[in-house]
Amino acid sequence: MAELSDTITFLGTAGARFVVIRQFLASGGAWLNLGNTQILFDPGPGSLVKVAKRRFDARKLDAIILSHKHLDHSGDINVMIEAMTDGGTKKGGTVFAAGDALDQDPVILSYLRSYPQSIQVLTEGGCYKVNDVFFKTPVRHKHPVETYGFIFQTLRHTFSWITDTRYFDDLAHRYEGDLLVINVLRLNPGAPLAHLCLPEAKSIIERLRPKVAILTHFGMTMWRARPWELARKLSEETGISIIAARDGMKFDLAQLD
Ligand SMILES: [Zn+2]
Repeated sequence: MAELSDTITFLGTAGARFVVIRQFLASGGAWLNLGNTQILFDPGPGSLVKVAKRRFDARKLDAIILSHKHLDHSGDINVMIEAMTDGGTKKGGTVFAAGDALDQDPVILSYLRSYPQSIQVLTEGGCYKVNDVFFKTPVRHKHPVETYGFIFQTLRHTFSWITDTRYFDDLAHRYEGDLLVINVLRLNPGAPLAHLCLPEAKSIIERLRPKVAILTHFGMTMWRARPWELARKLSEETGISIIAARDGMKFDLAQLD
């Protein structure tokens, strides 16, 4: 039997409105292939198209995880629930979402909610399981809607994903792992304050010192400044391997071993 691997494929690297609505970068979220467990993370607009284009089989999904309900993360959540359940004909898979994605101004349609095996509500300090993959939502982020970041633990690796948030002092030490994925929307400090900027991401990475950090979810100022060049400079400054995600990039966590 082939050795099991953990990979993250970035179906999109766009963050926030302008990069998304003009599709300078794709906004499909990420496909996590963790051993035999398939998870779709934050299926933003175009996720369905990217999943099909990259020849992933949505019917094999075990779960869809939504960090929060903003459109750039949730645009394709409904169609991906339909895809995961083969048009609602095969009950299966689990959807994980914050409570306000389900009740208040919900983004998940009522008529689809019976399609998955279950819908689980994310809460601060929560611990969840999909097959042999565990994940935690250590702290509620500071963001206009209910938002969580994640620490994933597979049988082989631990990695964290810091999703959208305003910077706060307690943030960094909540997220350990060999790999840190971090949403970096802005190049410089300033508005919109609900998101991390590059200097904040740098200080978080320096505090956590993962083996590798991956920057993603780029807004216009990051995109214009060439994320891959910023990542190279940051690597030199910190001595930590930092890379910028690219649309379609597949990262194999075996690189961390
Ligand atoms: Zn957001």
